[in-house]
Amino acid sequence: MTHSEQVPVPGRPLVLRGGTVLTMDASSTVLTDADVLIVDDRIEAVGPQLDVPEGTQEIDARGGIVMPGMIDTHRHMWQTAMRGYGADWTLTQYFVWYYLEHGKKFRPQDIAAGNRLAAIESLDAGVTTTVDWSHNLQTVDHGEAALDALRSVPGRFVLAYGNIQAGPWEWTADPAVRSLLERLRDDADGRMGVQIAFDVTGDPSFPEKAAFEVARELSIPVTTHAGVWGATNDDGIRLMHENGFMTPETVYVHASTLTRDSYQRIAATGGSISVATESECSAGQGHAPTEQVLQYGIPVSLSVDTSVWWSGDMFSAMRATLNADRMAQHMDAHLKGDTITHLRLRAQHVVEWATRGGAHALGRDDIGSLEPGKKADVVLIRNDDSPVSFPVLHPYGQVAFQAQRGDVHTVLVDGRVVKFGHKLVGIDLGPVRREIESTIEYLKEACGEEAWQQGMFPEMPDAEAEILQNPYQYTDYKDESKRAGGVERVLGR
Ligand SMILES: [Zn+2]
Repeated sequence: MTHSEQVPVPGRPLVLRGGTVLTMDASSTVLTDADVLIVDDRIEAVGPQLDVPEGTQEIDARGGIVMPGMIDTHRHMWQTAMRGYGADWTLTQYFVWYYLEHGKKFRPQDIAAGNRLAAIESLDAGVTTTVDWSHNLQTVDHGEAALDALRSVPGRFVLAYGNIQAGPWEWTADPAVRSLLERLRDDADGRMGVQIAFDVTGDPSFPEKAAFEVARELSIPVTTHAGVWGATNDDGIRLMHENGFMTPETVYVHASTLTRDSYQRIAATGGSISVATESECSAGQGHAPTEQVLQYGIPVSLSVDTSVWWSGDMFSAMRATLNADRMAQHMDAHLKGDTITHLRLRAQHVVEWATRGGAHALGRDDIGSLEPGKKADVVLIRNDDSPVSFPVLHPYGQVAFQAQRGDVHTVLVDGRVVKFGHKLVGIDLGPVRREIESTIEYLKEACGEEAWQQGMFPEMPDAEAEILQNPYQYTDYKDESKRAGGVERVLGR
């Protein structure tokens, strides 16, 4: 048998041979030196030395890890057009830039540009399903542009329709929006799903009620930023619960700054939490509620939130989540003078959350694990040129702490090869780059050069902070008699 490194041709069965297979099934089965056979859009079989149909193409998975395609349940994909721009933002600065000052400037083509790049980036990183938390759809034209961009990339996406520039009770009442939502719901072909995305402020008059009613009437799940310090809190959860809008399909993003009462309401109504740890750590929503989801038995998925700040891959999300939880566990103990001897959050947890956890959150029992009959969304992590690729001893640890997007060798969505040999298949970045360049050019001009620069590099009010007195100074540079000649050389004087 030859191990061709040619891109497999469509229309023939495919087998990934000899890998460490993380099935992510209900028993967390891990198989070593095992195969995954794919026929059409489905997983046909998983196991050692599989017999395969005549004409099956083979991908060498030896030394690699085969796992389900990863699932991101919350990403503002339109913001990828401004990748890295907000690296030093607080959440307040983010709100000011998008919600108050410049978000309205985005045209449909700008939404499309960000979405297309984010969608491609997902596939490259082995994220086969991404929820586009698209909350700047100021008109239905923006919505259509978002949708067209997602449809132009061969991944699975959920358009979570939203609009921060108006109240959710306003835009959900727009007949044009409703008809787009209905079309999306009815067209649901397994490649494109739909959610309604808005936040609940906790206003006692509960103006969001009308939007929840539309979602219920249309049978479309709601996704909401909950428990975000200074923005949303327990009042929003309570209002949703008292009005009967907390359902198993509801996704609570962040859910950081909440009390026990809210976690219990979420647990009791079966909804899930989307943990976006890189975001929670640096923007200030609160601590990622990893301890609470374990304590209260709440289903959980992972998300990256936005590439205006952070990475768009689940390796980073998994790593950040482990680090943040472990940090909290250690610090809680240190405050009591104790030492942690056993960690509560394991590498296996975060790999589960990034795969089957995401599938559960989206109500998809046909993705998220490698089992016969499931959709063939498959990732092969293999990089023979990397010194980090061996030995593979703890496969979950390898995925969560050692691997990165460049190690993603092969990605299949719905049985279709979209990345192979570390390269995207059939995707030309040239036009995508030009589309982004033209959006950036437009935004710079619309904002003005000065506002654009100031937005990217927020001023530092503490820049002149006093340097603390250090009692341990052993060299007095001002005292010539104590100054050694060497110091001058080191300091370049
Ligand atoms: Zn978000």
